[in-house]
Amino acid sequence: MKKILILLLLMLVTPWITNCKKGEVKVKDTKAEAKQGFKWQVDQFADIRILRYQVPGFEELTPRQKELIYYLSEAALWGRDIIFDQNYRHNLKIRKTLDAIVEGYQGDRTTPDWEKFMVYAKRVWFSNGIHHHYSTDKFMPEFSPEYFESLVRGSQGVKFPLEPGQSLDDLIAFLKPIIIDPTVDAKKVSQDPSRDLVTNSAVNFYEGVTQKEAEEFYARLINKNDPTPISYGLNSRLVKRDGKIFEEVYRVGGKYGPAIEKIVYWLEKAATVAENDLQRQVIEKLIDYYRTGDLKKWDEYSILWVKDTESAVDFINGFIEVYNDPLGMKATWEALVNFKNPEATKRVDVISANAQWFEDNSPIDPRFKREKATGVSAKVITAAILGGDCYPSTPIGINLPNPNWIRRMYGSKSVTLENITYAYDQSSLDSPFGPEFTYNEEILERIKKYGSLAGNVHTDLHECLGHGSGKLLPGVKSEDLKNYHSPIEEARADLFALYFIMDPKLVELGVLPNEEAAKAEYDVQIRNGLMTQLVRIEPGKTIEQAHMRARALVSHWVYEKGKPENVISRVTRDGKTYFVINDYKKLRRLYGELLKEIQRITSEGDYRAARDLVETYGVKVDPELHKEVLERYRKLNLAPYAGFMNPVYEPVEENGKIVDVKISYPEDYVQQMLYYGKKYSIL
Ligand code: ZN
Repeated sequence: MKKILILLLLMLVTPWITNCKKGEVKVKDTKAEAKQGFKWQVDQFADIRILRYQVPGFEELTPRQKELIYYLSEAALWGRDIIFDQNYRHNLKIRKTLDAIVEGYQGDRTTPDWEKFMVYAKRVWFSNGIHHHYSTDKFMPEFSPEYFESLVRGSQGVKFPLEPGQSLDDLIAFLKPIIIDPTVDAKKVSQDPSRDLVTNSAVNFYEGVTQKEAEEFYARLINKNDPTPISYGLNSRLVKRDGKIFEEVYRVGGKYGPAIEKIVYWLEKAATVAENDLQRQVIEKLIDYYRTGDLKKWDEYSILWVKDTESAVDFINGFIEVYNDPLGMKATWEALVNFKNPEATKRVDVISANAQWFEDNSPIDPRFKREKATGVSAKVITAAILGGDCYPSTPIGINLPNPNWIRRMYGSKSVTLENITYAYDQSSLDSPFGPEFTYNEEILERIKKYGSLAGNVHTDLHECLGHGSGKLLPGVKSEDLKNYHSPIEEARADLFALYFIMDPKLVELGVLPNEEAAKAEYDVQIRNGLMTQLVRIEPGKTIEQAHMRARALVSHWVYEKGKPENVISRVTRDGKTYFVINDYKKLRRLYGELLKEIQRITSEGDYRAARDLVETYGVKVDPELHKEVLERYRKLNLAPYAGFMNPVYEPVEENGKIVDVKISYPEDYVQQMLYYGKKYSIL
C-alpha cells in the first residue's frame, strides 16, 4: 500500500532535462553520459516495453560494499519461484513448461504461431504468471490449443514439470484449459464486492475457504485492543482441509521452505560483510524471522530496519505488500537491493526536515493531525537489483514498513528509485504521447521543461510525507476500509503532494524553481486522471488498480466540484477531447478540500464514505471518451507498461575470497528469463 508505481509516468511526463537549480538534483550521472548510446529499451511486445537501468556509482563503492550487494542480490533473486506460486497455484508448472519449449522446441521458429507463442511466454515471465501484472485479468494466448500441444511434443532434450506417474499427455490435458480457457481462473484479484472476494480470486493465498470463513478466522485472532498488533495473516496461506482451517506459514521448513532456505543462505553471507553492527542485526533478525515465520520477529526486524539510516547499502526482502490479497492481509514476496545517492538525497532532506511545517499547515482537521511529525527519513537511491514482485515491473518509490503503529512510534523509510525514473525518462525522450494529449504548445512546453522534476517532487511529497501524515483515531484500523483501503490511502498521499506542490513554501525551500513547475504537475495529473490513464483499461472494463482508482477519484472529484467556477474545462477540438485547467489556485483549494475529507475517512475508518467516494469517482469509465482515447493511443504505437532487466553481478575471487564485483548489463530479455528459470528454480 505504500508504493508508488511509475509504470506510466513516462507517459504522463514527456521527460526533459530541466534547468537545475540549487538544491535540485537530478541523476545527472556522469556514467550515463559516458555511456552514450546505451540501449535503454531492449524489447517490446503486447502492451509492454522492456527497458534496462544503469547503476551509476557502483564502481565507486568499496569492495566490501560491492560484496554485500552481490550477496543481497542473490537473496533477492532466489525468491522468484515464490512470487510465481503466490500469484497463482499453477504458475510454476506453466512457466517451467514454457521455458522447456523455448529451450527445446525443434520445429520451425519463424512462423507467426511461434511468434505468438513467444509473446505469450514473455508476458508470463513479465507478470510472474498468467494474469496481467496490472489489471490482474488472465491474458489469453493467440495460438491454438493444437499448436500448444505440438510445441510440447516437438520439444526435445528438456525436462517438463511432470508429477510422479504423470505423462506428457496428462500434462498437456491439464494445462490446456488453464492456459486457453478464458473462464478458468479469469481474475487474479477480484474487487467485485457483490461476490465472494476470496473464491472469485485466483491468487494463491487461500485454498478451500470462503471470504466469510477467512474473515471469521482472523476476527477470532485479532485483539482489537492491542496497540502493537502483528500483521495477522501476512506470511501465510489459509487453507481448509478435512473441515479444518489453518495457516501454512512461509518459513524454513514450512511453505516455500526450500526457496526461503536459499534466501537465508545468502543473507547469512551478507551479514558477514554488513556495513555496521546495526545493519548486521537487521539481517540477522530477518533470518530469524524467515526461520520461524514469527510475525513478532518481522515487526522487530522492521523496527531495526527503520533505525538503520546510516548504511549506504540497503535492501528490502520479504512478504510485504498486500495489494494482491482481496482481503488486504496477505503479502506477496518482493526484494530490492539499493544504495544511497547522496547528491540527489539533498532534495528530499530539505522536504523531510520540514515535515512538521507541512503537518501544521495541512488543510486537514486538527483532530487528525500528528502532534509531532517524526521519523520521516527519506533518501534517493540507486536500485542495484529488482526481485520478486518488484521485477521486472518496479515501483519508483517505496515507503516502509507498513504497520501503522511502527510508523507512528519509529517512523518509516522512504525511498525514490531515481536511476529507474531516469531510465524511463531517457527511453521516452521523443515520445509522441505528450503532443497527442496536451491541449496546446504552451502547456506541452511547460511539461517538457518542468514535468520530470515536478514528478520527482510529487513522488517525494507522496512518499516522504503523504503516507506518514495524519493519524487514526483510537480503535480505528486501516483494515476498516477493507477493499477501499488501498485506493483511499493512495489518494490521501497523492492529495497531500498535490496540495503542497503548489505551496510557495516549495519555491522558498529551493525544491522547485517557480510556480510554473507546480502547474506542470497539475497539468499532468489532470490529463492523466481524467483521460490518459484510460489507455491501460480494456474496452468495457472498469478501473481496478488502487493507484489508478486513486488518480481517477481525485481528478473526477475536483473536475465535478469545480464545475460551477469552471476550474477545469473539457474542450473538443477536431474531434479530440482535452481537459484544460483554467484556475490553478482554485484547483489547489479543491485538492485541499478533498484531502480534508479523505483524511477524515481514514482517521475515522468510515467504510461507507470510502466506498461511496471510490465507487462514484474512482471506478467508472466514460465509454465514449474511453473509446476515443484508446483509438488515439493506438495510432501512436506505444506500449503503456514498462519493466526492467536486471544487471548481472559477477564476483572476482582471489584465493577463495571475493575482492571485487563486476557489473554488466545484458540486453537479451529472453536469455535473462531462461537463465533465472534455470538458476533460481527450486519449488
Ligand atoms: Zn503511495
